[in-house]
Amino acid sequence: MDFQTFENLIKNENSARKYLLQFCWKNHQRICPKCRSRKLYTLQGGRRRCARCAYTFHDFSQRFLNNGNLSPRQWLRLIKLFELEVPTGRMAEQLGVTYNTAYKAVTTLRMAILAHSLDARLIIRSIEGLGFSKSGKFHLDMSTRGGRMPVFGIVERGTHVFADLIPELDGDSIVHFKMNFHLKTASLGKIIYTDRFKQYAALLTGGSQLSSIYNIRHADKGLHIDSSKGFWSFSKEWFRRLKGISPRNFPLYIKELEFRYNHKNEDIFPILAEYLCAMVPDFEE
Ligand SMILES: [Zn+2]
Repeated sequence: MDFQTFENLIKNENSARKYLLQFCWKNHQRICPKCRSRKLYTLQGGRRRCARCAYTFHDFSQRFLNNGNLSPRQWLRLIKLFELEVPTGRMAEQLGVTYNTAYKAVTTLRMAILAHSLDARLIIRSIEGLGFSKSGKFHLDMSTRGGRMPVFGIVERGTHVFADLIPELDGDSIVHFKMNFHLKTASLGKIIYTDRFKQYAALLTGGSQLSSIYNIRHADKGLHIDSSKGFWSFSKEWFRRLKGISPRNFPLYIKELEFRYNHKNEDIFPILAEYLCAMVPDFEE
């Protein structure tokens, strides 16, 4: 989205809100998020109550953007900064909010991207400390950094890439394949990647070049990867910039990368706005 269009959207809180509302309600028609009834009472403060099930809600209830305390205008500015890949610390400065507020908002956006990926349900069910709740909130438990580091298999299909979670593997499996089956490995920043593996062009996991527990280096030559084009050319710099990978946030970064690559020829601003306005899914059902 160009800046002129963007500036019109954020002219005031009302224009920003109107832009977001079009992604929330088809033809401005409000329905009860719980039972889909259209018979609603209007309450004070823009809230509504369902005549059938008595559920009380507002326009953004149970949606991703209801997580984090940003106004519609701040959300749109955050989407713009995210589109431009501005680091979180600088986003906080630009938005005039604390680092934690900016971090939580960016995490909300990443959770919304993850929820729209093909293997979202599998990821949410497999990764401990990552989940959505019935009330439309999500939780990302960053208190413990341990646990199994997830592994993603890369499949390139034409102009698209799929980064599939492989729940039966973890970071240790990669070391095992390397030591016992001579699977070649290399690293880019905090990412370890492998040579071809089964149907995958590569496996990806988090870690450093030197795996100190096993005293091995992920610096093999001759991997069947062409980093001059396609996904690898797109991802190289992106991987180098990643820092602080944990088993919890790694899937969020990988799904962000998958999203950016698969929409590289599109305007991602309206797509991100749409994702942010989507209902938080309930993967427990
Ligand atoms: Zn209802």
